[in-house]
Amino acid sequence: MAIDIKNRDMGGREGSLNINGIKIQTPDYLPNQKDITSLIDSSFVNNSNFPNIDVGVYTQWIDKQTLLLISGNLDEYNKVKKSINSGLKPMKDAGVKRKLLHFEFGSDVETLSGQEVDILLQLQDDVGADVIEIPNLFSTEEYKTVLDRAYEWKHFEGIGKELMGIANEGFDINLLRNKTDIISCIGASLRRENRPLLFAIKNQLSPMNIWVHAFSVPRSFRVVNWDGTMSVLLNYYGIDTMNTGIAHPNSAKRFGIQMGCMTDKQKIEQSLESRYFNPVDYSTFKCKNIKNHLKLNTFCNCPICQNNSIDTILQDVDTVYANFRAHEVFSYKKESSNYQNEIGKNVSDDYFNSKKYAKEIAVLYGV
Ligand SMILES: [Zn+2]
Repeated sequence: MAIDIKNRDMGGREGSLNINGIKIQTPDYLPNQKDITSLIDSSFVNNSNFPNIDVGVYTQWIDKQTLLLISGNLDEYNKVKKSINSGLKPMKDAGVKRKLLHFEFGSDVETLSGQEVDILLQLQDDVGADVIEIPNLFSTEEYKTVLDRAYEWKHFEGIGKELMGIANEGFDINLLRNKTDIISCIGASLRRENRPLLFAIKNQLSPMNIWVHAFSVPRSFRVVNWDGTMSVLLNYYGIDTMNTGIAHPNSAKRFGIQMGCMTDKQKIEQSLESRYFNPVDYSTFKCKNIKNHLKLNTFCNCPICQNNSIDTILQDVDTVYANFRAHEVFSYKKESSNYQNEIGKNVSDDYFNSKKYAKEIAVLYGV
């Protein structure tokens, strides 16, 4: 697996990523399991307009109890493996050819023993992940030991897959950039917006030829009061590929139960609170703040936005969320491809600056 960075300019870097023979152009957005099910659930997406998704990311939440169970009991391990495999099936059916398995840890996971690290590595290999991430819980010097352990595991088990180091903090980048004998790519956890981490990536990694992926990027950024996003323009910091986050299963479940108890009128009110990614300026405005009859093709020409307004999307209240999320996948993919072209022409900073909210976020981060 390798990335070939073809062009760099003021606004980012553009290249070709090869994961075991499958090549994608970067920057790119890698859909997760929720994106794929949203595309499947959207009434405006079908076989003829389904987007081409070569690489995807499956996010698995791990809490303390699961961790204890899977490391001590083979039946429990197999249960989790089975559940991931069934979650991966729609991705596979949708044509995803290469995949990453990413772990998010619940706040009750305070430590990872060596044996638990081995189990998490093995789990990725067993469900067919094409790149193996090395979980990083602490962001301390200790992570060096975890990297060495993963390297030994790989050789002992005879695994041919590449290893990915995980960075939570800027500090991790210092450590990982000197470990390219063990890892061949870096995953940055961006669940929390982390300015020092972005700076470390920009300063230290963007000049290197190493694949940088950002996991669990928020769909709206806190720094602008959730009114906008940087989305795939995170490439400005040297991030080649990214995916958005998956809610913790408990909050997803709570939300599902709440929705189940709502009347259609309440569901519509709830839907009006959901945010729409506007590729024109990278705002993520609440639906209730745009005119209901305004044609969405003012902003985007994807299969969802082409012939719809907020009003017509709201007509099927159970698919509103799926439709907005499916639009986001099309839109992020389109923006990735636009940005590739702009970098190729050496004018990506103009494009970046034309996206009001992305630029505002960068300014607030102090670049
Ligand atoms: Zn759209």
